[in-house]
Amino acid sequence: MQRLRELSRRVEAVYGEMADTFSGYQQASGLSCRSGCGECCTQPTIEATVLEMLPLALHLFDQGKAEQTLTQLEELPEVLSCFFYQRLSFDGKQGQCSVYQQRPSICRVFGVAGYRDKLGKTSLSVCKTIKADKAEKYQQHLIVLGEQPPPMMMSAKEQVNELDYSLGAKHYPINEAIRLALEKVLFKAYYSNFTDDQQIA
Ligand code: SF4
Repeated sequence: MQRLRELSRRVEAVYGEMADTFSGYQQASGLSCRSGCGECCTQPTIEATVLEMLPLALHLFDQGKAEQTLTQLEELPEVLSCFFYQRLSFDGKQGQCSVYQQRPSICRVFGVAGYRDKLGKTSLSVCKTIKADKAEKYQQHLIVLGEQPPPMMMSAKEQVNELDYSLGAKHYPINEAIRLALEKVLFKAYYSNFTDDQQIA
């Protein structure tokens, strides 16, 4: 269990850096999210690794909610948006993340991020709501992309996932990723009661 906690602290350290770079870019560029918008979280196609979910799984464990959450996840219908999204409007476009501090890396790059296009050139990924709200700013930033490069989505995700190859190699639908992370934490916790913590983890 000790090893999982140390690994989680390292993931959280990278999350701290990501908050500075991605939120900083959004604020500096003016390409910020619409207030209260949660449309990204309604997509059932969001994927994460088990490693990205480790801080959240340990947080739920420490709060005594790991087993209950695991049961709820196991009873979910197959294709559904994120379990942790709280809808605040009928169409689901307004809402909030109930685990914002522990959200995985993919959720930290929602909205605006850089990526490499087919020719290997830096391009800008901006969600359709921000594009509609800030059309002029979006166009301006496309023009100055070379001088003011955005933080890159893939390098941020890789920075996390390379911390542990076995937990960071494979991507799962987001609800599946947290389910697997909870199983891992509960398994380690169970065996830590019987044997040396350091050996098991
Ligand atoms: S973890 Fe939070 S930010 Fe990420 S998809 Fe779920 S509700 Fe949205």
